[in-house]
Amino acid sequence: MSKGFHRQLARIVKCDDRSRAWKKRALKHLEDDCVAEKRVKGGKAVGYELESGRVLCRKKSFKTKEAAEQALEQIELMQFVTDKKPCRAYQCGACGKFHLTSWSSYSDRG
Ligand SMILES: [Zn+2]
Repeated sequence: MSKGFHRQLARIVKCDDRSRAWKKRALKHLEDDCVAEKRVKGGKAVGYELESGRVLCRKKSFKTKEAAEQALEQIELMQFVTDKKPCRAYQCGACGKFHLTSWSSYSDRG
């Protein structure tokens, strides 16, 4: 069950062509289907704790800091086109993997 949750969550998060409303709905269904505790920070769900105790974040994660920084370089290149804010890689206190964040939330540890 947990395995399915992880896979489905990844599938939903990766759907960039879907609307935010669709993602919200899909995530709600997923939460209802799987017994997972929601991790909430500042009123926003940031991740899920599964029965196994494993924590999954809703943010895209990388196994290593190198992988995260490699993705970061690509984002910085994209920035010229999309005018996105610069990002940095940081290790997540919840899932232990690496995420990217914008400079504006530099003090926010996750
Ligand atoms: Zn995380």
